[in-house]
Amino acid sequence: MTRKFIPINQESFDLEDLDSSSIALPKNLLNGVKDQFNRPLKDLRISVTDRCNFRCTYCMPKEVFDSNYQYLPHSHLLSFEEIIKLAKNFVQLGVQKIRLTGGEPLLRKNIEFLIEQLAKIKTLDGSDLDLTLTTNGSLLERKAQSLKDAGLQRVTVSLDGLDDDVFKRMNDVDFAVSDVLKGIDKAVQIGLAPLKVNMVVKRSVNLLEITPMTSYFLGTGVTLRFIEYMDVGATNGWKMDEVVSSSEIINILSSEFEIKSLAPSSIGETAKRYSVTGKSKQAVGEIGLISSVSQAFCGDCNRARLSTEGRLYMCLFASTGFDFRSLLRGGASDELIMQKIAQIWGSRNDRYSELRGQNGAKENSTKKVEMSYIGG
Ligand code: SAM
Ligand code: SF4
Ligand code: SF4
Repeated sequence: MTRKFIPINQESFDLEDLDSSSIALPKNLLNGVKDQFNRPLKDLRISVTDRCNFRCTYCMPKEVFDSNYQYLPHSHLLSFEEIIKLAKNFVQLGVQKIRLTGGEPLLRKNIEFLIEQLAKIKTLDGSDLDLTLTTNGSLLERKAQSLKDAGLQRVTVSLDGLDDDVFKRMNDVDFAVSDVLKGIDKAVQIGLAPLKVNMVVKRSVNLLEITPMTSYFLGTGVTLRFIEYMDVGATNGWKMDEVVSSSEIINILSSEFEIKSLAPSSIGETAKRYSVTGKSKQAVGEIGLISSVSQAFCGDCNRARLSTEGRLYMCLFASTGFDFRSLLRGGASDELIMQKIAQIWGSRNDRYSELRGQNGAKENSTKKVEMSYIGG
C-alpha cells in the first residue's frame, strides 16, 4: 500500500482532499495507529477556549491580544458534544491521555460537564483515561473541588516565579502569586495529584526565580518543571538570547542542591526527570526539564492537538490544521472520522524541534499557529 504524503505546513488543508480509501483503519485497533517514524498516537491535547485572563509576554503579548483582537465567536468553538465524540474516536485509535488546555481552560463555561463525560471514556485496554488539565491557576482555588468531583485526576499549574513583581511582569495583568499558590494548595489538599507546576524561564525576567521556586516546592510532592522559552506562534518576539537552556538550569541548581538524573517514567514524556536533595539532606523532591529548544524530543512525540475550533494539528509548530468541525457538522460517521485521523497520523512526519537547528528557528515564523489557540 502506498501512503499519500500530506503537506502539513501549508495554509489550509481540506479533509475532502484526503482519499479515505488509501488508508484503511488498522484491523487490530489494539495496536493503535503509527506515523511515518513509527510513533504511536497516545496523547491528545484539546484547547477548549482561545481566551485568557492573563497576557503572558511569551504567549499572548498585550500589544497583539488587545481590546481589538478578534477571538473566535462562540459558534466556531467545538461544542462539548463534538469534543466528546472526537475524543471517543481518538481513544479508539489508541489515545490514553487527554489534556484540556487553551487559552485558559477554566474560563470555558461548564467545563465540569465536559470533564464528567470524558472521565467515562475507557481506553482500548479498558483502563481509565489519564485525564488532566493545564491552568494558570487563577480560578483554581474556586474550582478545584468541582473539577475533582467531575472526575479530573490531576492538574498542571503554570507559575513563573514567587516574587510578585517578577510574576506580574510575566502575566502582565497584575495577578498576584499568592492567589495561584492558594489554588495549588487547594488542589493538592483535595487530591488533584500528582500536581505539576510549569515554569517558563525567560532570561531577562525570571532567571533568579529558578532557585527559590525549587526550594519552595521541595518536599511538597509537587513536581516543578522548567520549560525552555519556545519560538511557538508568531507574536511573542522570541529571541534565542532569552532562552535559558536546561543544562544552564541544572548548573544553577547544582550549586544549591544535589541533582541526580532519574529514568523516564513513560515513553514520549516531555520532561527529563531529576531528583533534588536539599543541602540539609532532609528535603527531597523531583524536578523536570523540558528542553524543547536545546534538546529536541521529537523522536518519541506521540501528541496530537485539537484547536478550539476543531482543527487537528500534528505538531506544536505546525501552521496547518485539518478541519474536523466541518466533518462533524456534516454528519460524518465515527468510522469516517477515525479513518481521517488514522490517515493524517499515518502520514505524519513532523519533527520541528529536531529540524530547527538545521533550518533556522525563525523559518516559517509568520505562519506558525499561536499557543493560545492550539493549546500547550
Ligand atoms: N493558560 C493555561 C496555562 O498557562 O497553564 C494553559 C494554556 S498555556 C498555552 C500552556 C502552557 O504553555 C503553559 O504552561 C505556558 O507556560 C506554556 N507556554 C506558553 N507559551 C510558551 C512559550 N513561548 N514557550 C514555552 N512555554 C510556553
Ligand atoms: Fe494565558 Fe496560559 Fe498563555 Fe499565559 S500561557 S497567556 S495563562 S494561555
Ligand atoms: Fe512533537 Fe512537534 Fe514538539 Fe517535535 S516539535 S516534540 S514533533 S510537537
